[in-house]
Amino acid sequence: MTDYQSEGNKFDVIILGAGSIGVPAAYAFSKSGFKTLVIDEEASPGQGSNKRAIGGIRATHSDPAKIALCQRSIEVFSTWQESTGDDIEWVRGGYCFVAYCEEEQNSLKDLLRLQKELGLNIDWHDTSQLLEIVPELNPDGLLGGTFSPEDGNASPLLALLSFYRQSLKCGATYKFHEKVIQFITSGEKIIGVKTSSNQYYAPVTILAAGGTSRELGTLVDLDIPVYPDSHEAAITEPVERFLNPMIVDIRPTDDSSNFYFYQHFTGQIVFCITPKPNIWGTDIRETSAFLPMASQRLLDLMPRLHHLRVRRTWRGLYPMTPDGFPLVGLVPEKPGLILATGMCGQGFMLGPGLAELLVRLVDGSLREDDLQILERLNPKRQFQAQEILK
Ligand SMILES: Cc1cc2nc3c(=O)[nH]c(=O)nc-3n(C[C@H](O)[C@H](O)[C@H](O)COP(=O)(O)OP(=O)(O)OC[C@H]3O[C@@H](n4cnc5c(N)ncnc54)[C@H](O)[C@@H]3O)c2cc1C
Repeated sequence: MTDYQSEGNKFDVIILGAGSIGVPAAYAFSKSGFKTLVIDEEASPGQGSNKRAIGGIRATHSDPAKIALCQRSIEVFSTWQESTGDDIEWVRGGYCFVAYCEEEQNSLKDLLRLQKELGLNIDWHDTSQLLEIVPELNPDGLLGGTFSPEDGNASPLLALLSFYRQSLKCGATYKFHEKVIQFITSGEKIIGVKTSSNQYYAPVTILAAGGTSRELGTLVDLDIPVYPDSHEAAITEPVERFLNPMIVDIRPTDDSSNFYFYQHFTGQIVFCITPKPNIWGTDIRETSAFLPMASQRLLDLMPRLHHLRVRRTWRGLYPMTPDGFPLVGLVPEKPGLILATGMCGQGFMLGPGLAELLVRLVDGSLREDDLQILERLNPKRQFQAQEILK
């Protein structure tokens, strides 16, 4: 390969992947004055998992790192229209984790202490209190649930498009239709990347390639433990708004684990399920098994919805890690490379908060709380814990 560098292909930061993480990161870096390049093999931003996310945004997690990152993301999403003028259909509807079994009741209540300690506005509500917040919930067997009113939702399509446009205004460069096929190295140091049609150089390369991150790692003999796991979702016809929070049911059934749904700003009910066992791999063709399984769970939780017609289903990938937590940080054996991948089912909500942390990591302004986050999300950790609210 010709090792040819000119001003046109030299950047301060190269971001691999214009998705839920890469585009907010491009905005944060370019806004901070970095000459930023984003590379994606697709034709436009957000064509990977981002456009398949249903738009849930919560700080209600079981882990301090995710809580802190999403608290910041919520600040960004909730003030985005005010600060940029762009409507991303943000609604602060809250999140409601329901309990119909003692086991779920106990795990949700156990988590409350940590969640409150970390500053979350969240409380347990017994059956009658919860029915005041969500009157349409099926009362049969309902033991209560948590409600966190500051969480919300937004459109992943509008949000990413807006981050993209704002990053362009700040000077970010995007190269679409270019697949990254090789890392350019100097000794062990990563100094750039080669794509299907060009080569680019930067002292820092951020790998934010979602479900294909492991494949990219093999190009430099790195085993990045990100495994694509497919999930399906559906959207109904729109109806008058009656439901504010995202409803999450973590009770497992024979063929699924988590189930969650909400009513979008524009009236449609959007729902998603975690199949059991997981369906590993990159196949994103819709299945005939999904809708009967998911709609049954929807109607069990909210019988009132039985007349609603489903307009469309789709399938996408969660970039999963062994413990359900992202991989974020420097890679000691490959100086110049930063991982920002393995976002599992929460990449959209983590994006803006994580983007700002990445800037602080690169410009050397990390705060004490950042160091704790990076320690928890260290790509070299032992993967012993397990995320409870996946
Ligand atoms: C059905 C469903 C519902 C979901 N709901 C939610 C939700 O409510 N809230 C939430 O926060 N998250 C949700 N998620 C998860 C969320 O979509 C992902 O966690 C997130 O999109 C991952 O972001 P990412 O930037 O890591 O990857 P992506 O958004 O997939 O971006 C990676 C990009 O890298 C590009 N790329 C990969 N390899 C290469 C290469 N070699 N060369 C060039 N480009 C490359 C891809 O084209 C892609 O554009 C959901 C996911 C699914 C499937």
